[in-house]
Amino acid sequence: MAEWNLWHGCHKLSAGCQNCYVYRMDSYYDRDSSQVRKTKNFDLPIRKDRHGNYKIKAGEVLYTCFTSDFFVEDADEWRKEAWDMIRERSDVFFFMITKRIDRFMDCIPEDWGEGYENVQICCTVENQDRADHRLPIYKKAPIRHKQIVCEPLLGKIDLSEYLDDSIELLLAGGESGTKARTCDYEWILDLRRQAMEKDVPFFFKQTGSFLKKDGKIYRIARKEQHRQAKKAGINYKREHLLF
Ligand code: SF4
Repeated sequence: MAEWNLWHGCHKLSAGCQNCYVYRMDSYYDRDSSQVRKTKNFDLPIRKDRHGNYKIKAGEVLYTCFTSDFFVEDADEWRKEAWDMIRERSDVFFFMITKRIDRFMDCIPEDWGEGYENVQICCTVENQDRADHRLPIYKKAPIRHKQIVCEPLLGKIDLSEYLDDSIELLLAGGESGTKARTCDYEWILDLRRQAMEKDVPFFFKQTGSFLKKDGKIYRIARKEQHRQAKKAGINYKREHLLF
């Protein structure tokens, strides 16, 4: 999995940010996460080797902006250059997750149209309040590849108004870290039920550190969180999808 962290740092915005992974990691190195800065990997997608070939090969997926938010205000002056690189590398797929979908229409390039085919923009929502704020905007947004990410899931969410066949995946998961908030397995199962009703693929990515199931709270080690979610066997694919 290749990551492209073109800028680093962010500002906490909503309940899902409380135990932000970027802030947790930076605290080990005494770095201020609220100072957003360009990284040395800013031009990664267009770097070439000594033979003139791109170092990032055609067909690769670049997980973009995983130590910030692509639409964070501080990066406004750098984003045009980022879009230029994304356009130049139409043979690479760019995958990003945002909590700032309300800034999306002000941040897209002039030739965006109905969206670039090589860009997936996922909208993350952690509770009903943020779902009802972000998803009406997301629903209208011209984006070719959409995914809703409920992680860290902090409560039961009714997504019935927002799930349709434009959503390629609904992903859910708990929160990691020693200060993580408990995720209730019933909330996960409820999202799965909603996804299945609308025939939207569903993926239970990870349990988080504390999972409540049948009235009992389980503490789950980091290395077990993905494995336990997989073991639950509740992922759902559309019948006609061949993956
Ligand atoms: S938007 Fe994402 S990167 Fe920014 S503070 Fe919140 S959780 Fe962290």
